[in-house]
Amino acid sequence: MKQIPFEKMYHLLEDVTPLPIDCGHLCGSKCCTEWESGVGVYLLPGEEQFFRDKDWCEVVELPQGEHPFPGAKSYLMLCRGTCPRPQRPLLCRTFPLAARLEGDKTRVDFDYDGLMICPLVKLGEMEYLDPKFIGRVEAVWIVLAGFEPIRGYIEKYTARLESERKQPWRRLFPY
Ligand code: SF4
Ligand code: SF4
Repeated sequence: MKQIPFEKMYHLLEDVTPLPIDCGHLCGSKCCTEWESGVGVYLLPGEEQFFRDKDWCEVVELPQGEHPFPGAKSYLMLCRGTCPRPQRPLLCRTFPLAARLEGDKTRVDFDYDGLMICPLVKLGEMEYLDPKFIGRVEAVWIVLAGFEPIRGYIEKYTARLESERKQPWRRLFPY
């Protein structure tokens, strides 16, 4: 498998945040604190190499049937709600956005799985987000989509969204 250029992507997402101010101050950093016990952040395939030796987190391999990235081993990082910010993993840097497919194009929009956690996702208004953040996150996901297991992950997420959009209760949400 091709190697994902993690360092380059970490760098691209180092100094951008969803809002021009620190949204963690507004919500009490809910995305870092509101997960149930045992729930963590997915690491992208190969990203586990950066977290195995850290004393502030634990890396757990997911069972075969629960791999979110088809064709690759998958790991969850349990962080206990604190991390040295420059070391946070990629999916923490891209939240509250997630990638989906529109035709063959990779686009970003609010992460539907963050709906119960993030006030920005609940609000559902992309225009409140810093355009630089949106642009960087989208640029990163476009590169990531070139890696087969991640493309599979985006395809599964897109299919799930499309299926749920047909449910009547989904109309309660603005996007
Ligand atoms: S939950 Fe949403 S608003 Fe709060 S820190 Fe995370 S991304 Fe920002
Ligand atoms: S790794 Fe850091 S940014 Fe990510 S959920 Fe944990 S504390 Fe939050």
